[in-house]
Amino acid sequence: MEKEVTVLIVEDDKYISNFICMTLKQEGYRYIKTAMGREAISLSYANNPDVIILDLGLPDMDGSQVIEHIRSYSEKPIIVVSARQEEAEKIKALDLGADDYVVKPFYMGELLARIRVAVRKTKNTDTEMMETFERDYLKIDFVKRMVYIDNKEVHMTPIEYKLLVLFVTNRGKVLTHNQILSKIWGYGEGGDANSLRVFMATLRRKIEKDTTNPRFIITEVGVGYRFTDE
Ligand code: CA
Repeated sequence: MEKEVTVLIVEDDKYISNFICMTLKQEGYRYIKTAMGREAISLSYANNPDVIILDLGLPDMDGSQVIEHIRSYSEKPIIVVSARQEEAEKIKALDLGADDYVVKPFYMGELLARIRVAVRKTKNTDTEMMETFERDYLKIDFVKRMVYIDNKEVHMTPIEYKLLVLFVTNRGKVLTHNQILSKIWGYGEGGDANSLRVFMATLRRKIEKDTTNPRFIITEVGVGYRFTDE
């Protein structure tokens, strides 16, 4: 039998919180909940939940402070719930180490899908020693550092290859512009949002059959990119 998954819900809107809890219960998850940032930090420390769902606007502290605290002792996935006007905070939250986000109002089905991705990722992190990655017509050979489309080798520049590997190893997860820039070029090392856009365009032309309707790398408008989960 699979181990029970515990979700910590940090949300001060009672209606949303109850709705999330009710749905999680129906889906067979265990849950703990709080409306306060401070309590969220102590609960996550004491209970070590598998996934944390975090509202950014909390009565006692900023959601991003909660992320900073939790990230100082835990790598467990954090899914941020934000209102549309919290765009900048949402990006800050991802930069601080949140894994994903949903925007209010959201469908429960969407949140549940994000939770499933998060849970799967925690189970995979230790065993993720892939030699190849294959999906549809795309194949990557990490040993030979080669990329194939329909079994034909595609030439990649070193940066394009690094980008692709970064996305594939973080599939399902949103990567912000800042995270990508720092991973590929290092902090303050000449990478900027514009050059990233250019590299992304050439990478997409090489791996996507229809760049206007990408199969692999989805643009998260104003935030960054996400490699599709399946
Ligand atoms: Ca709130």
